[in-house]
Amino acid sequence: MDLLEIKQQLTYQRQELSNRLKTIQNDFDANDSLDDVLFSIAHKTKVELAKVKQTIALIESGDFGFCQQCGAPLNSQLLEQNPFQTMCERCEDTP
Ligand SMILES: [Zn+2]
Repeated sequence: MDLLEIKQQLTYQRQELSNRLKTIQNDFDANDSLDDVLFSIAHKTKVELAKVKQTIALIESGDFGFCQQCGAPLNSQLLEQNPFQTMCERCEDTP
């Protein structure tokens, strides 16, 4: 797994999501009837953007790939499928 590659991908994703949010904002200004739908899309985009930003911060601080709860290294195969994972399987199972 290549950290730099993941970071590049996330940086790209961050840009995409920011652009999408801007577009949604413009639609908000231009259209009144679609507000509910747009609101839900805007919310999802914001949540996604927050996750991307958080993951980039983890890569930059060197904490990426480790459980944020107990510090155990995360399963790299699962991490490759979902880079937004921040907890190991054991901590996820224990509330
Ligand atoms: Zn853990």
